[in-house]
Amino acid sequence: MTQIEFYDTRTRTRRPFEPLEPGKVGIYTCGPTVYAEQHVGNLRSRLFSDLLKRFLQSEGFEVTHVINITDVGHLVSDADEGEDKMEAAARKAGQTAEEIAAHYTELWRKDGIAVNCQPPEHNPKATEHIAEQIELGQRLEAGGYLYRIEDGIYFDTSKFDRYAELAGLDLEGQAEGARIGVTEGKRNPSDFAVWKFAEEGVQRLQEWDSPWGRGFPGWHLECSAMSVRYLGERFDIHTGGIDLSTVHHTNEVAQSECGYDCHPWVQFWMHNEFLALPGDEKMSKSKGNVKTLNDLIARGIAPLAFRYFFLQAHYRQQQNFTDEAIQAAAKGFKRLQKIALDLESVEGEGDPAVQAPYYERFREALADDLNAPRAMAVVWDVARSDDLAEVDRRDLLRRFDPVLGLELGAPAETAAEEAWETDPRIDDLVAQRTTARQAKDWDTADRIRDELAAEGIEIVDSPEGPRWRRTSE
Ligand code: AMP
Ligand code: ZN
Repeated sequence: MTQIEFYDTRTRTRRPFEPLEPGKVGIYTCGPTVYAEQHVGNLRSRLFSDLLKRFLQSEGFEVTHVINITDVGHLVSDADEGEDKMEAAARKAGQTAEEIAAHYTELWRKDGIAVNCQPPEHNPKATEHIAEQIELGQRLEAGGYLYRIEDGIYFDTSKFDRYAELAGLDLEGQAEGARIGVTEGKRNPSDFAVWKFAEEGVQRLQEWDSPWGRGFPGWHLECSAMSVRYLGERFDIHTGGIDLSTVHHTNEVAQSECGYDCHPWVQFWMHNEFLALPGDEKMSKSKGNVKTLNDLIARGIAPLAFRYFFLQAHYRQQQNFTDEAIQAAAKGFKRLQKIALDLESVEGEGDPAVQAPYYERFREALADDLNAPRAMAVVWDVARSDDLAEVDRRDLLRRFDPVLGLELGAPAETAAEEAWETDPRIDDLVAQRTTARQAKDWDTADRIRDELAAEGIEIVDSPEGPRWRRTSE
């Protein structure tokens, strides 16, 4: 059997994958900052970690997947400057940071269900692990890595020899190019905040006591502290978008390797490339050019068609999010689903010996640094094969599906349907709104929509008619 090989960002090599503990794999994925709705680029990152998990499960590993929820400390600028994204969003919406976090966490969870991502084994929130973060800060302080300046406690990156290793950073170049305006008192441009002080006279929504004074943790600290809590001091795979490698992940490594005196902290760093909009403009929430899963649903694209689209590119290649590509994927997905559904009515038993080489080609593709497009080519070979008996095609698609997560044999859009809810009272109100709209009674329609919004319920006008979902718990 072909050995599984993954590309590791830190060593810049492909290496055979062996977990630290035989049979078990720990994966940590940097999750959403819950101040805005996730866009399809963020979803690519989520889908990548889900495919990785599903493949490893299909190889017989017991996977523990941790995805954190960043609900404090992520500042608008990576240079430890600017407002906290959560605070800014809360102020704008006139809500508490907790309300904002609950709202967007719920949307994130529902998007995950809609594209059939398995729920992570652990989904910890930064605000619920402040004690662990302080504990790690104290370890770093005891090790002599931290220093205090006016606005917080900083990590002195010059004290960690391997600081540049993960992302191959040019620290000298960074020092030369350091902008004026770098936080005053920082010893090196790359130093980062481990704890930020609450500003005198400014009432923050989120702040805690610490040995260093009242304030809040730096963004990077949460991932180091929570990964230890759920996966141990060293673990197998850390994933995230490639943009995180130079600052966030580099800082996570510094904290964890210095705090727990280990190396390498993570065996494999696996980073997904970006999902780009036409014109190569990077898609980001702050640029406002976002597309959400709901935008796609509203245009008649099933969430699982987006999953199919995701599977068409290798995770280390940039993928372009164009209308044509999405439409083509939606068509391809429908065709594949129809074939699989038709094959479900075939009766009889297949021949494992005939199926074996096809399954082996499928798993070989994924063992080759998770080459999803090549695996999909095998799926299509099987789906369209004239040589294979129908029972064998049926069985093979059934075997591929738990890895792909496309719900191939199931009636179309089941997973998408599960993302919607039913409740007689709310269904009735939504129906009343539809009737009011049809009668062009906009006042009534808007009043019902606002009433439901006040209860935390959002109406989505999907092609199958209006649906609703709860946006806070
Ligand atoms: P955020 O909620 O902004 O902290 O991002 C969550 C995850 O999505 C991180 O792993 C990011 O690296 C990743 N990400 C952000 N934008 C994109 C994009 N356009 N394509 C792929 N991944 C992305
Ligand atoms: Zn992280």
